[in-house]
Amino acid sequence: MRDYTTLYQQLGQLAILTEQSGEMPADEIVLLKESGLLSVVLPGHELDFSDDHMPELLNLLKDVGRSNGAVGRIYEGHINTLFLIHLYATAEQRNYWFNQVEQYQKLFGVWNTDGAIGISFKRTENAVTINGAKGFCSGSSLVDYALIGGKTDRPSNGSDWQMVIVPMVLVDEPRIDYNSWKPMGMKASVSHTIDFSGIEIENDALLGMPGDYLKAPYFLAGAIRFASVQLGMAEAVYNNTLAFLRGLNRLEDPFQKMRIGRMAMAVHTGQLWITNSGNEFDSHKNQPDKYNHLIAYANLTRLTIESVCLEVLELSAKCVGAKGLMAPGDLERWHRDLSYYLRQPAPDATLQNAAGFLIKNDEGIEHFSGTTAVKTENNEYTVYS
Ligand SMILES: Cc1cc2nc3c(=O)[nH]c(=O)nc-3n(C[C@H](O)[C@H](O)[C@H](O)COP(=O)(O)OP(=O)(O)OC[C@H]3O[C@@H](n4cnc5c(N)ncnc54)[C@H](O)[C@@H]3O)c2cc1C
Repeated sequence: MRDYTTLYQQLGQLAILTEQSGEMPADEIVLLKESGLLSVVLPGHELDFSDDHMPELLNLLKDVGRSNGAVGRIYEGHINTLFLIHLYATAEQRNYWFNQVEQYQKLFGVWNTDGAIGISFKRTENAVTINGAKGFCSGSSLVDYALIGGKTDRPSNGSDWQMVIVPMVLVDEPRIDYNSWKPMGMKASVSHTIDFSGIEIENDALLGMPGDYLKAPYFLAGAIRFASVQLGMAEAVYNNTLAFLRGLNRLEDPFQKMRIGRMAMAVHTGQLWITNSGNEFDSHKNQPDKYNHLIAYANLTRLTIESVCLEVLELSAKCVGAKGLMAPGDLERWHRDLSYYLRQPAPDATLQNAAGFLIKNDEGIEHFSGTTAVKTENNEYTVYS
C-alpha cells in the first residue's frame, strides 16, 4: 500500500477544528479526494475488487478510522457503494459510475436506514419517482451520488427492496434537515435526514434487481468493514491515552501499566479477528456452501470489536480520569465518537443468529475456529479443519 501517513495526520488535525467549528467536514473530503483513496478499489488499482484484498482493505479502513472517525464512516460508505456497483451494476452502469470516481473524484454513500416515512419507488416506462426520506445519511450534501434502498412497486425474486443511485445534484438544500443530527458523538459524519419525495430519475439509476442489496453473504458479512473503522478508533483512544499519561509522567505506575497492558491485549484481539474475517471473506465469498460460516464469523467479528472497543473506552477513562476527558481535548471527542459509532443495528439478533449457526452445526467449537482461512506466503489459502 502507498504511504498515506501525511493524509492521516491532516485528517486528525482537521477533526479537532471541525468539531470546534461545528461545520461540515468539507476540507476533509477534499483531502480524501486529492489522496486518490476514493479510487483504490477500482479496476487496476491497488485494492481492485476483482482480486482478493479484503484484509488489506480492512486495514485501510482501520487506518482512516484511526485518523478521523467521522471520515472513516463516510469513506466506508463510499467503499460499500462501489462494492455494490462492482457486484450488481450492468457493464455500462459500472463504467459510468466508476468513471465518475476515477476521472472526477466523486464521492458515493449508502443510505439504507429509513426516515419516518420509508422510501418507496414508483416506476413508469422510463423513469422512477421517489417518495419518502432517509435518516443517518452520512456525508449528507458532501456526497455526490447516494445509493438509497426502498420498496419498489415492481417486486421480483420474492423481494421488493430495490437499490437506486441518486445524483445529489437533484437534491436541493431544503431537503436536507440539518437539525436532525444532534448526536452524542460522530457529529462530523453529518448523518442528516434527507427527504427525496417527488424526485424523478431515469430508469438507468436502478441498481441490480429487487433483493440484491440483502443478498448473502455480502450484506451481513459487510459488517467487518465498519468494525474495522471502529477498531481504528479504539487504536486512537489507546494512542491518545498513552500520550496523555506520558505528559503527566504517570506511565511507571503499576496500576496504569496493568490497564495499558489490558488495552493492548484488547486491541490486538480485535486485529486478529479483523485479519481472520478478511481472509474468510476472500476465501469463501464464492463458495455458497460456506456462506453461513462466513456470515457467522463476520457477525462474531463485529460483536467482538464492539466488546474490545467498550473495554478500551472503560480502561482509557480510568487511566486518564476526569481531567483527561475535558473538552476540547482530543480524547474527549474520541470517547464520544467511538461510543456512539458502536451503536449499530440489532446487536442482540446478530449474536443470536451467530449462535444459531453454531448450534445447528454441532461439530464442536474447534471445528468453527479451525476452519478459519489463513493466507499463505504465496497468496493462497489454507483452511485448517
Ligand atoms: C455515526 C453513524 C453513522 C451512520 N451512517 C449511516 C449511513 O450512512 N447509512 C445508513 O444506512 N445508516 C447509517 N447509520 C445507521 C446504522 O446503520 C443503524 O441503523 C443505527 O446505528 C442503528 O442503531 P440503533 O442502536 O438505533 O439500532 P437498533 O437495532 O434499534 O438497536 C438498539 C437496541 O434495540 C435492540 N433491538 C433491535 N431491534 C429490536 C426489536 N425488534 N425488539 C427489541 N429490541 C430490538 C438491539 O438489540 C439494541 O439493543 C449510522 C449510524 C451511526 C451511529
